[in-house]
Amino acid sequence: MRSFDVCECGAPLRRMERPTPKPAGTEVLLKVLAAGVCHSDLHLWDGYFDLGGGKRLKLEDRGMKLPFTLGHENVGEVVALGPDAQGISIGARVLAHPWIGCGTCKLCQRGDENLCLSMRSLGVFRNGGYADHLLMPHPRYLIDIGELPPERAAPLACSGVTTYSALKKVPTLKSEPLVIIGAGGLGLMCIALHKAMGGHSAIVVDIDPVKRAAAAKAGAAAVIDGGAADATQQIIAATNGGAWAVIDLVGSSATARLGIDGLVKGGRYIIVGLYGGDVTVSLPPLPMRALTLQGSYVGNLAELTELVDLVRRTGLPPVPVASRPLDDVNAVLGELRAGKIVGRVVLRPN
Ligand SMILES: [Zn+2]
Ligand SMILES: [Zn+2]
Repeated sequence: MRSFDVCECGAPLRRMERPTPKPAGTEVLLKVLAAGVCHSDLHLWDGYFDLGGGKRLKLEDRGMKLPFTLGHENVGEVVALGPDAQGISIGARVLAHPWIGCGTCKLCQRGDENLCLSMRSLGVFRNGGYADHLLMPHPRYLIDIGELPPERAAPLACSGVTTYSALKKVPTLKSEPLVIIGAGGLGLMCIALHKAMGGHSAIVVDIDPVKRAAAAKAGAAAVIDGGAADATQQIIAATNGGAWAVIDLVGSSATARLGIDGLVKGGRYIIVGLYGGDVTVSLPPLPMRALTLQGSYVGNLAELTELVDLVRRTGLPPVPVASRPLDDVNAVLGELRAGKIVGRVVLRPN
């Protein structure tokens, strides 16, 4: 099999060849049909997240070992089964749940493997789908996609379930406008799923006019330039007095400031994006205004299963998806880093 691996943080991925694995025990071997390129792949490639104030969260300290294969949004065809892999058949086309946990800690036991205390995620702590084959530990992580096209289903594993899980944390989803900060691939997915879930209306904030135009086209009720001096006032005006909920898909110091300052009393700021930075928050307004600041990290297996079911019933989110050969991976990552990609790029191995 061949794969493109991170051999040195930040350096171009290297094309590697090694024997195609034979599944043992409950393992399942997939032939990769589509692998989405996610913005967080840039952080994983760099090997750290920016914590603000010059501090970094190093993935090496969290157990990431080089070399490894990136890619956590994968659709594949089942081509081989371990002797104990049950409930799945050769030829099935499946979406791979990437947020795999240890299975034994309390978080895993309550169904939140995505919050496991010792994560084994695909494309982070075990090899992902920037490859022609992908070895999965157990059939339970494979969700049948039916007739969905692989390149459209692949992004559901990260950008889909991440936004779906954040949207599920909004108690006022159907009754009040929702502010969504960031109109990249994740933002467009969020707008589409918000609509599919019966959301009231979406007010989308982005500093880039091209992305604002894409958000308006995708059905945003209003778009706001996050770089405008009066952006906070615009959010408060567009939500009739302040937002009941903000989903921040960027997660920078500037967007956090904007999101928190734009809340109404009782409002909820949900941070998803991992851009990085820090903010200083005055404490008395937290209790006095009864604000909630909440983090949301990807989603669990039950949510991904629900999401695939939702999409199979209501149709695929109309997020622009460009298909590129796997061999172009380094060019694609460069374009993503330069902010030149609207929507999603999916790699195909041949
Ligand atoms: Zn991702
Ligand atoms: Zn666990």
